[in-house]
Amino acid sequence: MKRPGLHAIAADHVFDGTVVRERTAVVVDGARIVDLVPTSELPRTMSIRALPDDAWLAPGFIDLQVNGGGDVLFNDQPTVEGIRSIAAAHRKFGTTGLLPTLISDSPEKMRLALDAADAAVSEEPGVLGVHLEGPFLSSEKPGVHDTRQIRSPSADELAMLTAPRNGVLLVTLAPEVVPQGFIAELVAAGVRVSLGHSMASYRQTRAAMAEGLTGFTHLFNAMRPLSSREGGPIAQALESPDACYGLIVDGVHVDPAMLRLALRGLGHPMLVTDAMPPIGGSRSNFSLYGKNITTRDGCCVTDDGTLAGTILDMAAAVRNCTRLLGVPLPDALRFASAHPATFLGLEQMLGKLAPGYRADLVAFDPNDISVLATWVAGSDDHSFQLRGSLGRSR
Ligand SMILES: [Zn+2]
Repeated sequence: MKRPGLHAIAADHVFDGTVVRERTAVVVDGARIVDLVPTSELPRTMSIRALPDDAWLAPGFIDLQVNGGGDVLFNDQPTVEGIRSIAAAHRKFGTTGLLPTLISDSPEKMRLALDAADAAVSEEPGVLGVHLEGPFLSSEKPGVHDTRQIRSPSADELAMLTAPRNGVLLVTLAPEVVPQGFIAELVAAGVRVSLGHSMASYRQTRAAMAEGLTGFTHLFNAMRPLSSREGGPIAQALESPDACYGLIVDGVHVDPAMLRLALRGLGHPMLVTDAMPPIGGSRSNFSLYGKNITTRDGCCVTDDGTLAGTILDMAAAVRNCTRLLGVPLPDALRFASAHPATFLGLEQMLGKLAPGYRADLVAFDPNDISVLATWVAGSDDHSFQLRGSLGRSR
């Protein structure tokens, strides 16, 4: 991994996580950002990488829900190598931090996934931890999850989830199917808990938040819908300032009008992809639990038409957020970086461009949010072709 010493990356527009600064350079030393300065004030002796005219530089995207990429499904390859392939595939689309996400599977598979993520976190700075989506879910809202895997937690599983580990563990569960106090035990062990695939009532959701649940996994999808006398998880998420909710902004999973409604809530929206193996890969179909899944009309579906994740990437999620929802670009960028960083408890390290923060950056063309380059912990070791005049020295 190539990690240059003191140098500057200069762009016409630098979004630091709070404001957009014009003609600014991010000064990086090794893995860390040391300063942000007007490009005109850089010392003449400093090595400078100038981005193409009009390019933006922003905190790298953080994706909490990545089932696969690069033709790899995490459930099929719960290994360091599998995670590395997935991270490399997503990095082309600006993702500099992610959680490989295991769809409901056996206890043995969960252990493999946790061990692989533990090892990957120490080797790959772009791997922030792991997301277990299930298996403690509602059998009324399985989505594409195998109902035979959906179950209540065993004592062994609780011990496995609360053991010390590298990186963040995010668990998506249905609060109504786990024992009282289970969420609190996970949270006490540092686990992030998110509601998903759930028929929880408003009251049950509130009780789960009192135990420390803060997340909502793909809000609106696979959960009790809003209704007049039972607001369910969605009402609770929208009226709680502590809630962080993942949104799939592909224009298919959730109607844009519902997404705009979510943006009026008090909580913190986060862009997620829920991506499947075709992202950054060469094949358009794959199998999950032996079921054939194909990509059709911009989404992944089983033969019986059930939605099975997406072919969304983070750059497209940001683009859709601005175009479909009318969100100003800086806000969309926050939904893709600062908000997920805060949800994961990594807000002192990621999600901003500021002195002391890790040098995780994305450079992109603002017209179509096409990614020009990424840096992870200061490393610009790209697996893809750089475009434009990147790399030019002054
Ligand atoms: Zn799901």
